[in-house]
Amino acid sequence: MKSRLIALLAASAFALSACSQQSTSAVDQHLSTPGLTYDEAQLAQDLSRAIQIQTISHPERDNTADLALFRDFLAETYPLMHARLDPINLGEGSLFFTWEGSDPALQPIVLLAHQDVVPVEPGTEDQWTHPPFAGTIADGFVWGRGALDMKGHLITLLHAIEQHLRDGTQPARTIYIALGADEEIGGAGARLAAARLADEDIQAWFVLDEGGLVLQEHPLTGQPAAMIAVAEKGYMTVEVTARARGGHSSTPPRDSAVSLLAQAIVAIEANPFEHGLEGGPNTAMLLAIAPQVEGMAGFASARPGLFGGMIVSSMMEEDATRAMLGTSIAPTVIRGGIKDNVLPQEASGLINLRLHPRDTTDSALAHLRASVAHMDGVSIDVWNVASNPPPVADFEGDAWQIIAGSALGYAPEGAPAVPFMVTGATDARAFADVADNLYRFAPVWGTLEDTRRIHGDDERLAIDDLGRMTAFFYTVIEQAAVE
Ligand SMILES: [Zn+2]
Repeated sequence: MKSRLIALLAASAFALSACSQQSTSAVDQHLSTPGLTYDEAQLAQDLSRAIQIQTISHPERDNTADLALFRDFLAETYPLMHARLDPINLGEGSLFFTWEGSDPALQPIVLLAHQDVVPVEPGTEDQWTHPPFAGTIADGFVWGRGALDMKGHLITLLHAIEQHLRDGTQPARTIYIALGADEEIGGAGARLAAARLADEDIQAWFVLDEGGLVLQEHPLTGQPAAMIAVAEKGYMTVEVTARARGGHSSTPPRDSAVSLLAQAIVAIEANPFEHGLEGGPNTAMLLAIAPQVEGMAGFASARPGLFGGMIVSSMMEEDATRAMLGTSIAPTVIRGGIKDNVLPQEASGLINLRLHPRDTTDSALAHLRASVAHMDGVSIDVWNVASNPPPVADFEGDAWQIIAGSALGYAPEGAPAVPFMVTGATDARAFADVADNLYRFAPVWGTLEDTRRIHGDDERLAIDDLGRMTAFFYTVIEQAAVE
């Protein structure tokens, strides 16, 4: 099954290439100052300490004291940054730093990381090889909650900044550093930072956040690839409500509220959103990996019209790739009724949508309402805060060259820089209105199995990654902000 998918993807990528619909330009590799190395043992110690401070975000847990401890730890570990870059607590522990550039005509950049972590699911502690908040350093890894998501990223980012300050770097372009304290429960800190930029009429050149990594074995090529997220999906949950006559269940109407609700959900799922390669980075993603995919390429390049459709149908077969092609519909909660012999007057359900960049919250709501327009007694409304998909970042121009080039500097030899769309949500989206480009990446060399450790058991980060992540951030700052 997988090999057929790979062959089709490869063929289609070449077919699309032959059409020359869209193509990513070549990326020059960027490396920081030759010979610059980092003390990985020290980085591992710092990450270990960071993990031991339990900055857990949970609606029912007050983590104010933990966040204060974490701030003290940061101030002590990164003294130059705290002395010179005007640290501000935006409220609730979200931190904001300004590294003033010498040329106010240049658009600033924004570097993001969050300080909080998700809880460890009660009862799963003993499934961890090392206790989740011990920050154990063993077998070449730093183990613990937050190692990947995202204290490793935060520590190495701040380490790179501290190194630049020690080196006497003076950026031409202003650099903002925003460290949210509540990404895992809503991301109000990121929104405060974005609002600060909006208040000052600042439009940043790019934002860099978490979300992409170096996949050591890309599922479609078996080869390493630097996966840089240039897009993410929007988020919307709707409530579907069905109303019908209540009363005794011995004389039911043709449709009860419960059966109406069931029919409405079936009707919604029977009218899916458009799925295809257009409107996001999918075509560019395929083109970027195409050179590493074997088989069928010559055959396909002669038949471009044929393979565009086949690739979509192949990607539709797997949940993970289908989610990249269109807005997804996930019924998640259903409620109604109180007693087996009483007809409820109302039944309702929640449906979570992840919006593809070609859809908006308004167009998606209209699409869902059209699906049930023929049903009396059924209504659909937005249930909570909805967010449009942020604009897709540039994956050809100067900003892309800096991020992708720096990524390739710290990826295995021969790995391509691959633009892609994350199907989850990141803090970066809060900056959609105040930045031209949102990128999500750090050179963690991982496998798909490692990504499952995020929010799961045995979260860990390789000590080798700490050095290259620091070097990557150092390089991005050098390439983007220093003249
Ligand atoms: Zn995160």
